Amino acid sequence: MAFGTASRLWDEAARETATREVACRAGCFGCCIGLFEISLAEAALVRDGVAALPEDVRADVLSRARRIVTESVRAFPGDAERGLLDPERTEAADDAYFEVVADRACPMLELPSGRCRIYAARPITCRTYGFAWAKDGAVIHPPCGLNLPGATAGRQLQTSIDIGRVDEAMDIAEELAAELGLDPEVESTIAHAVVGSAFGPRLG
Ligand code: SF4
Repeated sequence: MAFGTASRLWDEAARETATREVACRAGCFGCCIGLFEISLAEAALVRDGVAALPEDVRADVLSRARRIVTESVRAFPGDAERGLLDPERTEAADDAYFEVVADRACPMLELPSGRCRIYAARPITCRTYGFAWAKDGAVIHPPCGLNLPGATAGRQLQTSIDIGRVDEAMDIAEELAAELGLDPEVESTIAHAVVGSAFGPRLG
């Protein structure tokens, strides 16, 4: 399963590093600021995680998600009410939107503890962030700026996560897409997935 694979890949990368090379620890939440794209499979997992939260926590998560969605609606390159990014959106529109929400804390983030409130149901990006991402033997995304300080390109690759190994998540997305009548390539964000109408009944 892609989510378990993603977590295992992070653990494998961590084993390749010395303790002083990695800043990741409980309470460090720099990577939880700003939204990012998630797949349909990730959206479904996030919704399951939110549905399982105690009522008061879920209400807080939904309130924060709605606020982000409402306040960024004009820049959203897609259907904000349904929670779907337009698969045909331009890169410029994509960049412009994620710039608008770059300073927004993820609605799942508990502050000030820095704890993820849906840790077991977090998306693949959250499970693999911290180390470089590689595909076909090349780094396609650098590590977190707090990790591997001064590492050469070779060292980054040596400690990278092969992101191609989580492509199997798309199989799940295809099944879900058929159920929901959506394009399997469609993407969302954590905030839009929990309040968007395309993903099922309201969570609260
Ligand atoms: S889902 Fe959890 S780990 Fe991922 S960005 Fe949000 S708070 Fe951070």
